[in-house]
Amino acid sequence: MGTDSPVLRIIPIGGVGTFGMNSMVVEFGDDLIVVDAGIKIPQGNLPGVDQILPDFSYVIENSQRVKAVFLTHGHDDHIAALPYLIRYLDVPVYGTAFTIALARARIIDNYLNVDQAEPDLVQLLFGSTVKCGPFSVETVRMSHSIPDCAALSITTPLGTVLHTGDFRMETEPLDGYKTDLDRIRELGDSGILVLLADSTSAGKQGFLPAEKEVGKVLEEIIFQAPGRVFIATFASHIHRVQMVLAAAHRLGRKVVMEGRRMVQNCTLAEQLGYLVYPPNTVRQIEDLDEKEKGDVVFLTTGTQGEPLSALSRIVRDEHRKISIAKGDTVIFSSRIIPGNELSVGQIVNELFRRGVVVFTEDSAMVHVSGHSTGEEIKTVIEAARPEYFIPLHGEYPQLTANANLAREAGVGVDNIFILEPGNVLELSAGGAALARPVTAGRLLVDGDTVGDLDDNRRPG
Ligand SMILES: [Zn+2]
Ligand SMILES: [Zn+2]
Repeated sequence: MGTDSPVLRIIPIGGVGTFGMNSMVVEFGDDLIVVDAGIKIPQGNLPGVDQILPDFSYVIENSQRVKAVFLTHGHDDHIAALPYLIRYLDVPVYGTAFTIALARARIIDNYLNVDQAEPDLVQLLFGSTVKCGPFSVETVRMSHSIPDCAALSITTPLGTVLHTGDFRMETEPLDGYKTDLDRIRELGDSGILVLLADSTSAGKQGFLPAEKEVGKVLEEIIFQAPGRVFIATFASHIHRVQMVLAAAHRLGRKVVMEGRRMVQNCTLAEQLGYLVYPPNTVRQIEDLDEKEKGDVVFLTTGTQGEPLSALSRIVRDEHRKISIAKGDTVIFSSRIIPGNELSVGQIVNELFRRGVVVFTEDSAMVHVSGHSTGEEIKTVIEAARPEYFIPLHGEYPQLTANANLAREAGVGVDNIFILEPGNVLELSAGGAALARPVTAGRLLVDGDTVGDLDDNRRPG
């Protein structure tokens, strides 16, 4: 470090080779920034483990050199490890409005000791640029399954690194904001050294339907339903929630929100003006009369069959106020995250046993992905025209599919790098090469206890 010709180093801490734990270091000379700090939700085979964090040893050991943390968006696989990471850092955390609101809520919920100063959370507008050390970071609007998702254009003295965050190419966004392909093209005109892109659906063909199409299907199911309707969806999918609220209002039904996260996220979205609905649409179950109770729409958490979620507790008859029975309709307006098939399957099985009508992604178009298909990703790569390409956000099949897209879009085959956590890609005027890796792996969290270093830990 500190040599005459500093190098740019890109180090994924997590988020490659697995879904979740998205975090990356961008380093130039002696300075570094962290992009995202996410968790992975543990699956059934790790009882007693609440969360899985990436091993932040490299960031923590170099905390004096860290200039800032930037967040692309507010999904847990991008922000939920932040409450842990910021214990070790005294730097600003930047993100757009909803992202910062969710990050603050997570920090208040987790880990924050009385003697720990509140971190410096800084809200950014789209198109604004933050300068810190040798980095100049611009937020670029991207469409995704949560409001306020940003790509980050990180300019360094060696060149620009564009990190897409998670994105899709929504054609009719509910909030009117499309992925800012024009800005990406402009950045491409000026020259993008490295593009890092979301690989989640890189292997999928064609184009995604508009989110509004899901809204129409949900409204039709609610309209046809003889009784109560339970809609399980991701608590951060504010546009999905918005469509359900509008549909319920049009059909003269009341909505009850169940699940702490659902209530918390919707409250934050409402405060920012991102969730708007007529008064009296959303109610508490105890305030409804018998007619209203009979055709209420519940918006609940529990899309992945999480045992403590509202829907799971209702199905196990462990909910204080709500039970479920024949005549009810349940919609899983969500994707099953790979690994959760068993827990969701058990809930679906129990619902069918009771004579409940069930809709999932397989039986009706009640969900559309927030992640671009291959064809859509290619439009972004072609707009960016990067010299180097790194696929992010996926297991190796998805990363490989994305690498193939980059090759088709004209990126040189030797300039595409499928990385593993802890890999260090060094870029300089002379080219790009892998350097000695840094420590990476997983940390298992049980309640407030962080420990049990995973055997994936590799030497520094
Ligand atoms: Zn993600
Ligand atoms: Zn996301």
